[in-house]
Formats: sequence, structure tokens, C-alpha cells
Amino acid sequence: MIHEILPVGVLQCNCSIFGDEQSREAIVIDPGDDIGQVLAILARHSLKVKAIVITHAHIDHIGGAAKLKASTGAPVYMNAKDQELYDHLDVQASWLQMKTPERTAIDSEAREGDSLELGGAVFHVLETPGHTQGSISLWIPVENKLIAGDTLFRDSIGRTDLPGGNGRQILRSIRDKLLPLPDDAAVVPGHGGLTTIGRERERNPFLSGL
Ligand SMILES: [Zn+2]
Repeated sequence: MIHEILPVGVLQCNCSIFGDEQSREAIVIDPGDDIGQVLAILARHSLKVKAIVITHAHIDHIGGAAKLKASTGAPVYMNAKDQELYDHLDVQASWLQMKTPERTAIDSEAREGDSLELGGAVFHVLETPGHTQGSISLWIPVENKLIAGDTLFRDSIGRTDLPGGNGRQILRSIRDKLLPLPDDAAVVPGHGGLTTIGRERERNPFLSGL
């Protein structure tokens, strides 16, 4: 499996590009910005996007979704509980003093128990609310890899002081959905460096009471 991680935009959101070597199909997760660079990576690997998945509707994760969809024709997956946040992308843009990007229709709800397939790999949707109400993580068992969005970071967790955030809920999500995963599972957070479930269980100060 091809997996490229590209930090995009001013907040350097980790955009993940997964590609299957056989079918040349791809799944792009969190194309927040810099769609030109995303398209260049896709072209370099001769990949065709079959799905665009958004872990949550913060502008740094979803800002480039409309552009990527227009360029590839791929459907956009997002949890419906973040629709309201997405509807107010202009408010988010004003926080960052940036231009409001174009919005697109959400084609498919990404709900707990849903899954996408790429080659032989299954991408399971885990609902992990707390950072936002519609935050999801993606668990890919054959890759032993978790795409955590802004729910879990190396040594930290997602902020919960923005609209839709809930500090108790994010801890419950991490305890019930993420910590049961294998200790050696790789974690790709929404920002910053990679980690593992085991490392965060042991060393993440925000998880010490769980
Ligand atoms: Zn966020």
C-alpha cells in the first residue's frame, strides 16, 4: 500500500494519500489545502481517487475538499454531525483570517460501522466525538494503522474549546474506541509527528486517568 503524508495549509494538517498498487485507486483523507501538491502526488503514483474522507469539518482538514472533488470526481465522506460546522466555513475562515474556500455537497455520511475498501484493505469508520461532534477516526487493520484526525496526538489530544468541543467526550472516545487497538498500531494524528497507541497509553499526560 502506498501511503504518503503531506502536511497542508497554514496549520499543516496531515493529509493522507493511500494508494493501491494493483488497482491504482486511492483514498485521500483530510485534503485541507495545497490541492496542487495532492494532485501531483496522485499523478506521480498514477492514482485515481475513489473517495475523499474528512475526519472533521475544521477548515484546515476540509478546506480543499471541493477543489479535490472538482479535479477528481471522487465522492466526499463526512459524518453528518459536522454538517453545521461545514455550513459555517466562512466563520472558520475569519478565525484564521483567510479567504473562505469553496464548499461542496457531502456525498456520503461516514458513520460508525461504515467502511471503505482499497485493494484488500478495509478502512473502518470509528465515531470519536469530542474535538467536534462529527469527528471520526479511520482504523485500517491490515496496515495496523489509525488515522486519528484531531482526536489523538503524540503527547496530546485535540482541543475541545471550539464550538462543538467536549472535553469529557473526547476522553471517552479515546478510551472506548482508540486505546483498545493494538499497542503497536501506528497513529497518524491530524497534525505533527506519528506515534503508536502503546506510546500514547503510556506517556500521553492527558490519558493518565483513563
Ligand atoms: Zn480540528
